[in-house]
Parts: sequence; C-alpha cells; structure tokens
Amino acid sequence: MTPAELEVAELTAELIRVDSSNYGDGSGPGERAAAEVVMARLAEVGVEAHYSESAPGRGNVVTRIEGTDPSLPALLVHGHLDVVPANAADWSVDPFAGEVRDGYIWGRGAVDMKDMDAMMLAVLRQMVREGRRPRRDLVFAWVADEEAGGVYGAKYLTANHRDLFDGVTESISEVGGYSLEVDPSLRLYLIETAQKGLAWMRLVADGTAGHGSMLNADNAVTEMAKAVARLGGHEWPITLTPTVRRFLTEVSEAFGLPFDPEDPGPVLDRLGPLVRFVGATLHHTTNPTMLGAGYKANVIPGQASAVVDGRFLPGYEDDFFKTVDELLGPNVRREFVQHDIALETTFDGALVEAMIAALKAEDPTARAVPYCMSGGTDNKTFFADLGVRGFGFVPLRLPKDMDFAAMFHGVDERVPVESLQFGVRVLDRLLLNY
Ligand SMILES: [Zn+2]
Repeated sequence: MTPAELEVAELTAELIRVDSSNYGDGSGPGERAAAEVVMARLAEVGVEAHYSESAPGRGNVVTRIEGTDPSLPALLVHGHLDVVPANAADWSVDPFAGEVRDGYIWGRGAVDMKDMDAMMLAVLRQMVREGRRPRRDLVFAWVADEEAGGVYGAKYLTANHRDLFDGVTESISEVGGYSLEVDPSLRLYLIETAQKGLAWMRLVADGTAGHGSMLNADNAVTEMAKAVARLGGHEWPITLTPTVRRFLTEVSEAFGLPFDPEDPGPVLDRLGPLVRFVGATLHHTTNPTMLGAGYKANVIPGQASAVVDGRFLPGYEDDFFKTVDELLGPNVRREFVQHDIALETTFDGALVEAMIAALKAEDPTARAVPYCMSGGTDNKTFFADLGVRGFGFVPLRLPKDMDFAAMFHGVDERVPVESLQFGVRVLDRLLLNY
C-alpha cells in the first residue's frame, strides 16, 4: 500500500474526533481545532499554509503546491472543515469518536466531508514526501462554514484573500465521484457538473384587519393560504437540462432500458437510494416551509406571511419566476430570504478526461457520467464568482448495497476504509498527471 492509502483512514478519524459542528448561529465550536490538525499534518512534511480566521475560531487553511509547468492554469481542490450537528442519542456510536468498525470509519463528517479533507491531506503529504511535483499549481483549501452558507469560509476567503486563488480556473470538491454498481462489469461514477439554483422566498399578503365575527372580503390569511397551496401543489413539468438528459441517457444505456424523456420513472427506479441525489433535478420545486399570521382567534390580522423553499433548474431561472408570480397572483408579494444562482458546465475538456482516466486506471469497470445536484456547494456560491469551473469529484468506489445518499447529514454516517484507499489512489493520479 502507498503511504497515502496507509494513513488516509487515520487522518479521517483524527478530523472526525474534532467536533466542528456548525449550528449556523455562531454558537458552535468553530473550525479552528480542525484547521490546526490540517496545519500540523502539513507542517510534518514541511508544507507551510496560509491560515486566517474570518471570525474568532472560524479557521481557514490554504496552501499551494507549485507545478512544473507555469503556463498551465491552477486547479483548486477544496473541502469544508465544518459538519452539521449530530444528536449522539440517535447514533449507535459516538459521532465524534472516529471509531473504526466493520471496515468503516464512523462519525459525523465521514462522507460530508472530512473524508475528502483527509484524502487531500494524504495525497499532498505523499506527493511532497516523495518529491514528486504536479504539472500545474495545485491550490488546496480547507474552509469553514460551508454548512451554513460559506460566509465565514469560501466567501470570506474569496473576498479578502483573493490572491490565494490566482490563476485558478477549475476546481474539484464534494458531492460527486461516488460509484453506482450496475453489475460486476460496470460501475457508474457520478460526477457533479451542475447545481440547481436556490430561491428562499418570503411571501407577504396584506389585507384588511378586522373583527372575526364580521364579513371580510379582504382576509390576508385566506389569500396567503390559497397562494401557498397553489405554489406547494403545483406540478412542475419535467424539463431536462443538458446534464440531466445526458445522465438519464447514460444510465438507461447502462441498465439496458429504453429512455423516454416524457417518462423517466423506470430509469430513476434503477438508481435505488441514489435517486435522492437526482430525483429533484428533473424539474423546479417549490416547497412551502413556514407560515405565519394572526395573534387571536377573533381578530383578522392585516398581514399573513409564508416562506417557500424554491429550487430552479440551471438555464431556466426566468421561467421559474414567471410561473411563481403567476401562481402567487396579484395579492401576494415575494422577497428573497436567500437567492443563489444555478450552475451548469459541460462534461468535456482536459480535466474531465483526466478524471475519467484516473478512475479507469483504478477501476477498469468505471464509466463516468455527469449529474446535476439539487442542492449547492461552495463551488457555486463563491468560487464560481472567481470564474472557476467546478466539479463534484470525491472519488469513492462504494459497496453495491451501501445507501450512500443516507449518509449525508445522516445518523450513523460512515465511510468504508477501502473506499478512502481507492479515493487517494485516484486522486493521486489525477492531481499528479493533470
Ligand atoms: Zn458538504
């Protein structure tokens, strides 16, 4: 085994043992202790890193390995150091113990995304120790706050330390690169090339306040209830973006199914639990999540409000808002709680070829397919602003029966040690040869 394969599991466990829960309100422990682990492991091999805090305890680590060919643009490899909280009572192990059991490393962050944080470290350490240099500059970033929007991590870094990313044109990071076994001779690896956009909308209806016993044709609660029902109940038509069309075509082919763009159901069925990653990428969604109005049973309030979590497809933002406004009607206005762009890149070019080659070298049954994710990552929120073309690529060859989608933010989050070892082999090839 290579040095990276030998140490990647322990590095993952070491990072899991540092509780870096992000509650989203600044009350958590922060990422400093996790960043210190990263910096200590870098220092062991003589690598210096930039460290900065966006707020007390909110640590970010960035380092650059110089390539042999300065004419090539740099590649960014980034991971977030924070994790979502874990309620220990629900778990069968201590979520912050980094326990190794049955060939898995268990704990919060095992797949989201201390696994990749550790893979990045292991591959970088191996590269430096062996005196090998990549062709292009590699920028490694371990950042804070992804789970709460990246304000103290990627946003802070790109706004205040932009020079760290000089010359970067492409990036790889979380939520892609994992396998779906079709049969023993074919494994699909899903590489994320697109992300839906986000529109968290606060809806407001104004009406005429008054006594609950009297006639009222201008009741804000009634207006809001109707608008929320229209939006929540709307059946958004299937709209296949180039990424989703290619994904469904490739998956149908792999499973030997005909692909009907009007009825992708049979293809989706074959994805098993992974359907959770892609099921919502065939159309826009609008899910009402909050409601508010009134303070007393016999008082009609003058205003009612609601919050709707809207997600729109890349390339169809205008279409989304046009329909939303039609559904809301003239009596309900909307404002943004949060609004993020959608992203989509093509599945081609030298980096894509290099990812495919690295996968195939380690798994001859590998076939890479692009997919769109329904959520977002730091790739979208901030690095896209720098003009960086981002991909989701954390290479993991997974056991056939593993419910990988359930691991993200899930109870008993865990990752197979063998998957991590596969991951560092692929990553090492990619980062060195690209
Ligand atoms: Zn994540």
